[in-house]
Amino acid sequence: MKNIFILFFIIIISIIIIAGEKIPEVLYEARFYEQLKNNVVRCDLCPNYCVLRKNETGICGVRQNIDGKLYTLVYNRPITIHVDPIEKKPLYHFYPGSRILSLATVGCNLKCNFCQNWTISQTRPEEVQADYVEPQQIVDLAIQYECESIAFTYTEPTIFYEYMYDIAKLAKKNDLKTVLVTCGYINEEPFRELAKYIDAANIDLKGYSEEFYSTYTTGFLEPVLNTLKIAKEEGMFFEITNLVIPDANDDPDEIRDMCKWIIDNLGSEYPVHFSRFHPNFKLTNRPPTPVKTLEMAYNIALEEGLKYVYIGNVAEIAEDTYCPNCGKKIIDRSGYLIRSIHIKDGKCEFCNYKISGEFE
Ligand code: SF4
Ligand code: SF4
Repeated sequence: MKNIFILFFIIIISIIIIAGEKIPEVLYEARFYEQLKNNVVRCDLCPNYCVLRKNETGICGVRQNIDGKLYTLVYNRPITIHVDPIEKKPLYHFYPGSRILSLATVGCNLKCNFCQNWTISQTRPEEVQADYVEPQQIVDLAIQYECESIAFTYTEPTIFYEYMYDIAKLAKKNDLKTVLVTCGYINEEPFRELAKYIDAANIDLKGYSEEFYSTYTTGFLEPVLNTLKIAKEEGMFFEITNLVIPDANDDPDEIRDMCKWIIDNLGSEYPVHFSRFHPNFKLTNRPPTPVKTLEMAYNIALEEGLKYVYIGNVAEIAEDTYCPNCGKKIIDRSGYLIRSIHIKDGKCEFCNYKISGEFE
């Protein structure tokens, strides 16, 4: 495990490789769309199924009908690239302590009114000066900065599908792991195809009612539940994040129902993170989630039988990993810092119990 004790900071990479160069104006045809009559197209990438006339752009703001064909406006156009500790995704059971090159373009297919990254997720390509970085350059950066994996994250990677897909394919050729951090709002066919090149994911389950999804996110719950089931079917390792928002999705019965659904449909092995909400974007009239609410959710998840449960965005609470069999602490964390790991060949060093996830 390399650099395990020094991943406490984020390195922001300046994309100097293209500094001063003229940015090529290249349009990239999108995948997963149908041509209808009169130059109208329907995008089939996500459950929004945008129907677009000439020159119209989808809800995500980054896919446009140009002369009866659908194009992505963000291929090769990342708005941000960072080196992060993998714990920041959050992924706690996938090569803990490793570095991950993380990137995003602008745009999102949802408009959550609590979005923590709204300055880039709710921005359109024409409003920013994005750099030009080809998939091979992303892979080269990951290697140069000694990252073991590449993450598609920060905004919603579904909307830069083609760029992500090509990077992920190249990453696999270069023995890098790939990580998807997603709201899960993607249709089955593109998700299954992408899954071939994705090693791990963090999938948001933002709430457990259609009312919550329609009030706070502009999406629907059902497609997200479907994505979780498909991720399991495809053999992808994933962890689940639930951002707990006061007076929105913090009802104990709803949290219990969500945990029951996870156990019934996915099993007890997938780690679940209850994450603290901070007032942001359009939801500034709520306080940060009280710690006792997060602890309530944490206790419900354990009572229901989930084996690996964490609290996120709060220092030093429920951040360590315990062996579900012998109860000993097997990963000792302090924020994004890993203090010690007692897992060998994927098993608890104390009792040999198989621990969910992938470890060196
Ligand atoms: S990916 Fe964008 S254009 Fe396509 S259906 Fe979803 S929101 Fe609409
Ligand atoms: S899905 Fe994520 S990135 Fe998109 S608006 Fe919601 S919170 Fe923001």
